[in-house]
Amino acid sequence: MTGRVLVLGGTGEARRLASALVADGVDVVSSLAGRVAEPALPAGKVRIGGFGGAEGLAEWLRANPVDAVVDATHPFATAMTASAAAAAGATGVPLLRLQRPGWSAQPGDDWRWVDSLAGAAEAVQGFDCVFLTTGRQGLAAFAGLAAHCVVRSVDPPEPPLPARTTTVLARGPFSLDDELALLREHAVDVVVTKDSGGPMTVAKLTAARERGVPVVLVRRPPLPTGVPVVATVDEARGWIRSRAI
Ligand code: NAP
Repeated sequence: MTGRVLVLGGTGEARRLASALVADGVDVVSSLAGRVAEPALPAGKVRIGGFGGAEGLAEWLRANPVDAVVDATHPFATAMTASAAAAAGATGVPLLRLQRPGWSAQPGDDWRWVDSLAGAAEAVQGFDCVFLTTGRQGLAAFAGLAAHCVVRSVDPPEPPLPARTTTVLARGPFSLDDELALLREHAVDVVVTKDSGGPMTVAKLTAARERGVPVVLVRRPPLPTGVPVVATVDEARGWIRSRAI
C-alpha cells in the first residue's frame, strides 16, 4: 500500500493501527489532541494539537491531502468525532470510525448506568469512598461531593475537585492485583467509570465484582450517522486495504 492516511488518535487502538499501517507501507499521520504531557507516540508521522473545529480539520485535509481518515479516538471524544464526520462530508475524504465495543456485565456485577458525569455524581450520593476513573477532565461534575474521592489520572487533575480528594497518578494498563489493592487500601465502596471498553482498564470492573462493590457506568454518546464503524484494528486495516490505499 502506498497511500496516505490520517489517524485521529489518543488510544491504544490508534497506536496499534498506526504501527500496522506503517508496516503495510502506508504513509500514516497520527493526530493527538496534546492533552497528555508525555504521550505514548505512535509509529509514523505525528501532529499534535486541535485543528480548530470541523472547518479547521477540513482546511487541514485540503492542505494535506490524504486517501482516508480513520477516527480512532476514544469513545467519549465526542467533539473530535463530530468534527471528523463534518470535515469528511465537506471534503469528500472517506472516513472510518474505529471504536472498540463497550463492556458487558457479568454475573455478580452491580452496575448502575447513567447518561452523564452529572448523573454519575448523583448516583454516588451516600457512598463513603468513590473511586473516580473518568479521567481528569470533567471532574468538576463531582466537585460538590462530600465523600472521600480517589481520582486516578495520567497527569495531575486541576480544580475544581471534590473537597476530600486523593490523587493517584498512573497510566494503564492496570492489573487485577493493583486494582484489588487500591480498592482495599482506600476502602472504596463505589467505582465510577465511563463505558470505555477494551482490556486496558477492565481490571477495575473485575476487582469491583470480586469485592462486591457497585460500579456507576456512564453510557457512550451516540455515533454520527452515515459513517462506517469497525470494532478492531484488523477490520480497520482491512477497510484501508479494500480501498487500495
Ligand atoms: P474531544 O472532547 O472530542 O475533543 C475536544 C477537542 O480537542 C476537539 O474539538 C479537538 O480540537 C481536539 N482533539 C481531540 N482529539 C484530537 C485528536 N486526536 N487530534 C487533534 N485534536 C484533537 O476529546 P477529548 O475527550 O478531550 O479527548 C482528547 C484526546 O484524548 C482524544 O485524542 C481522545 O482519543 C483521547 N482520550 C480521551 C478520553 C476520554 O475519556 N474522553 C480517554 C482516553 C483518551 P479542535 O476542535 O480544535 O480540532
